[in-house]
Amino acid sequence: MTAQLLDGKQTALKVRENIKKEVDSLKSEGKPVPGLAVVIVGENPASKVYVGQKEKACKAAGFNSILHRLPEDTSQEELLDLVEKMNKDPEVNGILVQLPLPKHIDSNKVIETIDLEKDVDGFHPSNMGRLVSGLESIHPCTPKGIMYLLEEYGIDIEGKEAVIVGRSNIVGKPVAHMLLDKNATVTICHSRTKNIGEHIRKADIIIAAVGRPRFITSDMVKDGAVVVDVGINRLEEGLVGDVDFENLVEKVSWITPVPGGVGPMTIAMLLLNTIEAYNGNK
Ligand code: NAP
Repeated sequence: MTAQLLDGKQTALKVRENIKKEVDSLKSEGKPVPGLAVVIVGENPASKVYVGQKEKACKAAGFNSILHRLPEDTSQEELLDLVEKMNKDPEVNGILVQLPLPKHIDSNKVIETIDLEKDVDGFHPSNMGRLVSGLESIHPCTPKGIMYLLEEYGIDIEGKEAVIVGRSNIVGKPVAHMLLDKNATVTICHSRTKNIGEHIRKADIIIAAVGRPRFITSDMVKDGAVVVDVGINRLEEGLVGDVDFENLVEKVSWITPVPGGVGPMTIAMLLLNTIEAYNGNK
């Protein structure tokens, strides 16, 4: 079997085009456009790349993009003041504070200060709690992008065995709840899981969010599985995912490429969360 691609690049493009159309019609009606404020503290090179991509996508959608670049030695108080100011600003519909923050700043405190309805990263503990409780909330962008992609390609989730490798707050845990909500039977593996291959081999749907290049090999995967590779590992040869794509592609039914899979979906979902926040705030 040669797998079909879950094409995140094309799907994200479609989402972004629809958002742009919605913004164009807001403009033609003389209404304000959605505003996304992004805050970056310090000089983390990966963060700068991510923030640059988000700003570009925001502008391309016709949003009002507000970028705050703060120096590494910004105090926690200064950052909290800025967040509170943005919470009150009617032109700001979405607030994203790029993580990681410098060590002297308590990230949890910063995230908890963001207005729940402007928390377009979906990391606020109340948004996470609502997600776990099955209540309406802003969903984190990467898991939301994974679910969007599965739905776009008509992947059956109900009653399937879903195995997630990785239990981070930004990917593994939220996507587990989202799959559970769609009636999958969910297993979460992590660094202390024993016989990890045995768990993964049971899976109809595999979500790899490990952060280790080509961690999931073809002997760990059953024929016809659906594989979503969240991993972004920068090697000398270029970007590679958490699964051994070249070998898995012969065995599974659907697979995301890296790059061009989950990455573009994450950015598209940030725009979607922002326009949804805008529509909710009107
Ligand atoms: P993370 O916070 O580092 O979490 C990694 C998870 O993998 C942890 O739960 C860890 O287990 C588990 N793990 C590590 N080594 C393992 C091993 N040998 N066996 C089994 N489990 C192991 O990572 P993350 O933030 O979720 O990100 C995961 C990957 O996705 C990274 O490559 C990241 O760059 C990428 N990512 C991509 C996007 C995107 O938009 N495409 C977005 C976010 C992240 P413990 O909990 O036991 O330590």
